[in-house]
Amino acid sequence: MHGCGAGSHTNVSKALHLARLKQQAFDLASGASWPRLDQFSCVVLLAGPHHQFSGQQQQCLSDYVAAGGGLVIILTAWSGSLASLVGAKESSEPSIDGTRQPMDMCFSAELLPGLEGITITEEMSVSELELLPGSEAVVQSFVGLPIAWRHRIGRGRVLVWNSDFIERKIAQGLIVASVMNVQPVTIRPIVNAGIVQIDDFPCAAAPMKFPPVAEEYGLTLLEFYDRVWLPDMLELAERHGIPYTFLTVFNYNALVEPPFDFDEWTTTHEGARSGAEPFAVFAAHLVREQHELGLHGYNHISLYLDIWGNKINMVLAMQAAKERWQQDGLGPLPRTYAPPNNDYDAAGLEAVTKAFPSVQAVCGYLEGDFEKGRERDIGPEPWNPDLLCIPRVTSGYILTPRAKFRMIAQLGLLGAWTHFLHPDDIIDIPERRPTAQRLRNFDNSPWRGDGSSRQRGLYYQFADWLDEVGRNYPWLRYTRTEDAGAILRSHLANSVGVYFVSDEVTIDTQTMTFFQVCINGDRKIDPKTLSGAAVIDERQLAGQTLYTIEGQQKQIRFGLLPK
Ligand SMILES: [Zn+2]
Repeated sequence: MHGCGAGSHTNVSKALHLARLKQQAFDLASGASWPRLDQFSCVVLLAGPHHQFSGQQQQCLSDYVAAGGGLVIILTAWSGSLASLVGAKESSEPSIDGTRQPMDMCFSAELLPGLEGITITEEMSVSELELLPGSEAVVQSFVGLPIAWRHRIGRGRVLVWNSDFIERKIAQGLIVASVMNVQPVTIRPIVNAGIVQIDDFPCAAAPMKFPPVAEEYGLTLLEFYDRVWLPDMLELAERHGIPYTFLTVFNYNALVEPPFDFDEWTTTHEGARSGAEPFAVFAAHLVREQHELGLHGYNHISLYLDIWGNKINMVLAMQAAKERWQQDGLGPLPRTYAPPNNDYDAAGLEAVTKAFPSVQAVCGYLEGDFEKGRERDIGPEPWNPDLLCIPRVTSGYILTPRAKFRMIAQLGLLGAWTHFLHPDDIIDIPERRPTAQRLRNFDNSPWRGDGSSRQRGLYYQFADWLDEVGRNYPWLRYTRTEDAGAILRSHLANSVGVYFVSDEVTIDTQTMTFFQVCINGDRKIDPKTLSGAAVIDERQLAGQTLYTIEGQQKQIRFGLLPK
């Protein structure tokens, strides 16, 4: 039910759609009489400053929650007429004027696995409110300003967001987690796909030395890729069962008109294991046996009409790349395309598909400028609906709090994680780019170092990251991007029916897939009654039990037991 700006409503609606939770929208401003609330397991109330709730409407919501309903309230401004439901009051301090400012978000409840204890800093506006007794903070600022909290009314639960952060795309996972936290039972299909992409490899690496690789190994970048980085990355893949998607780029030249040469790609180097064969070709043959080989470009220049002059130049460059791909026996033509710098325009995308009709997935970035190919959701590419957008959400080797939050939010939304990294992340250090905002190796970490906490290199940090995923999301199935595409399409097209007859649950699904079952309070799945699926993970979150189950039939049944 929405009575505020379009931003929150769109984001809530998209989040519930991607999470495959059934929804029905109701516009509070329409003046129409409210639908009966007892037909819903959860109400998401988007309460803006302009909507006044009558006493009768407040009572209606209060009665609904007291009888066991779930209520999520998203406040974009303080609404005095909701005071009795919100569990907070206006602070005696002057209210923040609604402008956005950087604020710490400290997560103090395990709404999603691994979330508790994370602190990130985000731009947002928050109302100065004070929690009433009985309300428990879920997210607060560093100085204790409540950003999200929950409380009980009778048998039901209320979770309140006091920030426009919820309008951000990355917050979609928090919206879904909030719904799961308040409604008695949530059952939803998940994608279950982890994608790890390696951009800019195979490539023509520079036979030059750079810090900090030179100090640690005395090797050129090319020798480092060949003898250290690639063997280590392949070992991590083996240990964690990850098929990577390598995204190759043929050159780093600045050519935007023909002839398109391959001088860099075909250069051979003494000292590389490839011998007389170009290192990039050697590496491509090596990795494609166990991993996917996708495309990052002829060169690293974004496919923009205004850089390339016309579409024909872009098509010719991509066709040259295709001929080289075939000439060097790189295998089936690529199905996955990751745009250089995560950017492209509509003409650039046409050039990709004209030269490579094999491409099915475009992997840019979740946020940014839509006209530059960013700000994409998982789903059909708006400029070419035959293509699937699989935007990346995290990057690099270092599990910063921000990366951890983003990953958990994406896993909370879809049960999917899309990650990318580069072989040259290690040389992106303060010394080389002193004014850069976000360095990929901001601590000047070595690759391995001695492995201790003081000198824990990028290799160990990424290994720790994967270990942490394994602990919190042991069910996550790592896939090639080309396989994830089919899984994602099936997830979006799937139709699932969930039926309750007292404490007996039946799930009908068109496609066999994975599900999450989240149960609040004191009930649990009765393992003796479970049919058509197996429980592959069970864990306690904030006041709820989260099961991940693997469907084995198109009908799944189980009963709920008191704990
Ligand atoms: Zn790149």
